Amino acid sequence: MLDTLHRLVQDVSAAANLDEALPIIVQQVRDAMAVDACSVYLKDDASGELVLMATDGLLPGCVGRVRMAPNEGLVGLVAERKEPVNLDDAAVHPRYRYFPETGEERFHGFLGVPIVHYRQVLGVLVAQQREHRVFNPNEAAFLVTVGAQLAGALRTAQTTGGVARPGGATSFLQGIAGAPGVATGYIVVSRPLARLSDVPDRVAEDPPAEVSLFRAAVGRVQAELRTLGDHMAAVLPREESSLFDVFAMLLGSDQLVAETVGRIRTGMWAPAAWRDTVLEHTRVFEQMGDEYLRARAGDLRDIGRRVLVALQSEAREPRRYPERSVLMGEEITAAEIAEVPAGHLAGVVCSGGSILSHTAILARALGVPAVMGLGELPVGRLDGVPIVVDGYQGRVYVRPSRTIVREFRRILREEEALAAGLRELRDLPATTPDGQSVSLQVNTGLVADIDPGLESGADGVGLYRTEFPYMIRTSFPSEEDLYRNYRRVLAAFAPRPVVMRTLDIGGDKALPYFAIEEGNPFLGWRGIRVTLDHPEIFLNQMRAMLRADISFGNLRVLLPMVSHVGEVDEALGLIDRTVAELREERQAVTRPPVGVMIEVPSAALQTERIARRVNFLSIGTNDLTQYLLAVDRNNARVAALYDSLHPAVLQAIDRIVNAAQRAATPVGVCGEMAGDPAAALLLLGMGVDSLSMAASSLPQVKWVVRSFTRTHARQVLDQALDMEEASAVRAMARAALKDAGLGNLIRPLKPAA
Ligand code: PEP
Ligand code: MG
Repeated sequence: MLDTLHRLVQDVSAAANLDEALPIIVQQVRDAMAVDACSVYLKDDASGELVLMATDGLLPGCVGRVRMAPNEGLVGLVAERKEPVNLDDAAVHPRYRYFPETGEERFHGFLGVPIVHYRQVLGVLVAQQREHRVFNPNEAAFLVTVGAQLAGALRTAQTTGGVARPGGATSFLQGIAGAPGVATGYIVVSRPLARLSDVPDRVAEDPPAEVSLFRAAVGRVQAELRTLGDHMAAVLPREESSLFDVFAMLLGSDQLVAETVGRIRTGMWAPAAWRDTVLEHTRVFEQMGDEYLRARAGDLRDIGRRVLVALQSEAREPRRYPERSVLMGEEITAAEIAEVPAGHLAGVVCSGGSILSHTAILARALGVPAVMGLGELPVGRLDGVPIVVDGYQGRVYVRPSRTIVREFRRILREEEALAAGLRELRDLPATTPDGQSVSLQVNTGLVADIDPGLESGADGVGLYRTEFPYMIRTSFPSEEDLYRNYRRVLAAFAPRPVVMRTLDIGGDKALPYFAIEEGNPFLGWRGIRVTLDHPEIFLNQMRAMLRADISFGNLRVLLPMVSHVGEVDEALGLIDRTVAELREERQAVTRPPVGVMIEVPSAALQTERIARRVNFLSIGTNDLTQYLLAVDRNNARVAALYDSLHPAVLQAIDRIVNAAQRAATPVGVCGEMAGDPAAALLLLGMGVDSLSMAASSLPQVKWVVRSFTRTHARQVLDQALDMEEASAVRAMARAALKDAGLGNLIRPLKPAA
């Protein structure tokens, strides 16, 4: 059964479209359950009707013709109840509706299960039997499992433009917001194509040249495999190393090569022709009864990848980038982003990654929206396809409807007009009409961020994430490397303060040369926990920071992921020790102000004690939200639950601010919410001393600060603290912005799911 399930999901993902996938599903389920008919109905988003999309057992002419309102028929009943309906004689049920074109009067036993994706019914899967019988619990469980497994694959196929989509094209794929902004454009599938299934369909412009390219790539991989085999023969027993000969032979088999060449001659470009040949053969291997032969499917896939990589390096045709290119791939490297001609990159979309991956950091630095963590995507089928990227909500609309495109173009125009209008605020102070000043600072992490930070008119850097220079290396950077990097940043902003955070690795921020394998990394070895366990890493970084600060004096040091006061004491001890050592070396260092990030609930509850030990506090609302709500900030499945405007999060922040004020310690916010105008209004009401955000958000937040008195902001906050749901808080804060004439700052509203 598991095998059948696995194969089903694979087939759906590999099928070019739903028209191809659905008949495979019904046929495989019918065989696996040994029933007389299996059918699948999908919901038409526009009409709400359930439409028969494929059947194996009912009369073939009825496909597409049988349509049922959700309150009609047994299929409608399954969708309505969102649970299985299992009957020994369907015809006697009061909800039974007979469609003569199906010929279903022959069937009695009926089992229908809903196909549900995140609470939404996408369709209904039905098994039918001639005889009167109730399906046994194992059969029912199997069909329910098939429905659940299919839901995700179906949703992706529908949302990315499967032709069988019965209606509507306004739905989106939910990922993680990687970089703010919106874009409309065309998908450019990134290179290298790591997976065969990601190879896009394209037409071969010159088939004979494409055939030569393909033959050259095959030759190269064969030679490569023979060399590998020779090399392995020296270290592995003969049986193991002969595997490479098998590989080389497989590749040399006339069938693989001839079939691919045949496909190229029909006008396909070589990578897609190769993809189809390999996928077809792997499917055959996978279905073999013999375990040894089944395992050969893996070998074939490996060969497939190798030839693909060789093909890419053979074919050095320059890539074409449309004016509004949206790079899409499993991972997108900095080099690929750099390859896009200036002004052509509109957005970035990744099936993997998180808000902290290089790609997202780079996109933020470049000011283009990014959506990460979208999960499985049929990337290869999407090259050149239109797309809308919503980097605020972490959503993409593939082949968007005209209404969606129009709506997002309007948002884009408004954003551009707004940015132009806000430029004049650059040199004005961030002071409320009743005379309260808030320091507005920028978050950075890249040298590329320096200029936008300076141009935004920021009062300094509120958070310099030091991870990036560590992430792009193959070993820990030396003190000298870090010194040069830090000195550049400190010099650029001097005399304005620069808050440098000590290394915050762990969680989702891995260093390629310092593996941390954990079952639950966000609750594991992260941030200060790692650097206190490895004082050599902490001291190396501290020496570089202190030396870089000589003659500038604008360095502030920030400690991440503190959950115990003891960690603060220990880190302060290490900082003092570094100062003393450098002074012994006759370096004219000064001890910088030190602050702590409040981002773990225990630190939030002990704020006052922590505040009395240090010079400032910075609230990391990204982590604080994830830890308070128990919602992984990088998990697209629960992205809808992750909301920093949750009243519980607001209450926690308000208490932190009050505790810091009791200790007379300045407190700011450096999480993403500081750059959201609606959230910034509430933080202003709390009386924070500083807000640190992406440079692109700064003018908007300055406008909020200059438009609301502290008293007014406090009134809005008091209402928010009394609410029960984040959605109510957001609506209320947005209404307050609108009433104050700042309606333009309201971020794209969530379109209906
Ligand atoms: C935070 O947690 O809010 C924060 C600013 O730090 P990071 O996003 O780097 O974890
Ligand atoms: Mg954090």
